[in-house]
Amino acid sequence: MRIAFIGLGNMGGGMAANLVKAGHDVRAFDLSDDALAAAKDAGCTTFTSASEACAEAEAVVSMLPNGAIVKSVYESDVIGKAPQGAVFLDCSTIDVATAREVISAAESAGYDMVDAPVSGGIAAANGGTLTFMVGGAESAFERAKPILEAMGKAVIHAGDAGNGQAAKICNNMLLAIHMAGTCEAFKMAEKLGLEAQTFYDISSVSSGQNWSMTSYCPVPGVGPQSPSDNDYQGGFATALMLKDLRLAMEAADSADAPVPMGARAAALYEDFNGAGNGGLDFSAIIKML
Ligand code: NAD
Repeated sequence: MRIAFIGLGNMGGGMAANLVKAGHDVRAFDLSDDALAAAKDAGCTTFTSASEACAEAEAVVSMLPNGAIVKSVYESDVIGKAPQGAVFLDCSTIDVATAREVISAAESAGYDMVDAPVSGGIAAANGGTLTFMVGGAESAFERAKPILEAMGKAVIHAGDAGNGQAAKICNNMLLAIHMAGTCEAFKMAEKLGLEAQTFYDISSVSSGQNWSMTSYCPVPGVGPQSPSDNDYQGGFATALMLKDLRLAMEAADSADAPVPMGARAAALYEDFNGAGNGGLDFSAIIKML
């Protein structure tokens, strides 16, 4: 397929390369010359504007920083510029309201479109092992699925437009809550004289067990290998977790959903990020306790 790819950063660069590997003709655009050069090396054809990249595309994939950019790129360079009948896939993490607005504008102009945010970081983007949570009409999902499968290991339909974003932020809000709780429990265990490994051995087979403990333990040397064993480098950056928590708080507000635990986790991550820790893995919040 001829696929336009807009946004070739940390995530999009690897995703576009995987579409090339799957045999697609990938037409790439990014504002950054370095990103364009890397995409060219990976086998993409590069263009000097998003609208040129879209001009003959059968599908458009975007991986951009935020909702305002996604809206402006689709309004000015994708909708009406890509041929009629093209399908659009926005894989960026953005607010639910903007995702629904952009999809509605695309549909009004006769295009199929899904929101398809991802779970998994840069390594999963490079390795083609992302999980996609997809919102949009069934027919749009069926068209998007084979394209997403070339970039990921799981593609799940979450319902109507915007539901992919809803699933993403609800999941990441829950992740922040159980990471903060897991950190608290380890620190309290330590203050009460309990070894971290002993607490892990007990809690990991008891009712406190959760992913942050048994797959991504915030205490170095405990549990399987995780960013805590590498001085909290790599992994999922605190700044990105905070971005998702801000989106979650915005969505909770607009849906009038009570999120007292999510709000507390968001406040903790605001403090930790504000203290200059945005580049550290989000499990490093244990250092603040
Ligand atoms: P990034 O900043 O590395 O890449 C974004 C790219 O978009 C940059 O190369 C930038 O030049 C380009 N860009 C910005 N405005 C543009 C425009 N108008 N036209 C064309 N290109 C433009 O960010 P990233 O880490 O790749 O993240 C991309 C998206 O994926 C974000 O929404 C992020 O929240 C989400 N995400 C990231 C991760 C992660 O681990 N990095 C994980 C899951 C989801």
